[in-house]
Amino acid sequence: MGLFDKEPLTDAETREQLLWVAQEMLRTNLVEGTAGNCAARLPDGNAVLTPSSLDYLTMTLDDLVVCDMEGNVLDGHRSPTSEKALHITALRDHPEIGATMHCHAKFSTMFALTRTPIPAVIEEFDVFVGGDVDVAEYKTTGTEELAVEVASHVGKKAAVLMANHGLFAVGTNPKDVLHIAALIERTAEIIWGARVLGTVVPLPDAVNQQFSGYYRYGRTGSFD
Ligand SMILES: [Zn+2]
Repeated sequence: MGLFDKEPLTDAETREQLLWVAQEMLRTNLVEGTAGNCAARLPDGNAVLTPSSLDYLTMTLDDLVVCDMEGNVLDGHRSPTSEKALHITALRDHPEIGATMHCHAKFSTMFALTRTPIPAVIEEFDVFVGGDVDVAEYKTTGTEELAVEVASHVGKKAAVLMANHGLFAVGTNPKDVLHIAALIERTAEIIWGARVLGTVVPLPDAVNQQFSGYYRYGRTGSFD
């Protein structure tokens, strides 16, 4: 699954990939315990979400919850994640987004706590993320206000930091969004270390524009 892979997943493939990605999120230390949550758009336009407070490693397809774009639960015997609005709002406001992830990755959260954007100083980062990862304004966890604020930052970019909380990332499908979250976390760690060593030198503006343009073109069909 790559940046420009537009092959749509079936309903069953979407659910299976979402479950695998939620478990990978724990295995790769993007979250601890039952924290974090993921969602994906189904072919019928509804969304499948991870459930609230359930062990990822014993989670099965039956535990996933389907909601419509108003957040009403359509299918599933569990409660959806407490951050349901966060995922639904991003999917509803951005039709090109196919999957979302919220996690508490360690280095990204260090940037979120200090309200420091993660700068796009590596070309690969521009191509996959679309530029600096900015910090969304602080809003209380689980609220509509948080959902609206966070959704306003994604689309032209693949992620935003949630002030005093963590990371929110978007992609075309769950595997894509896992790759983006992992790349951001790796880059946050690299920037943190690089700042210990010395001054991080920005990429030339023209290069930033060119490479972040590739991201926007891949997602929206426009370089702007
Ligand atoms: Zn959280």
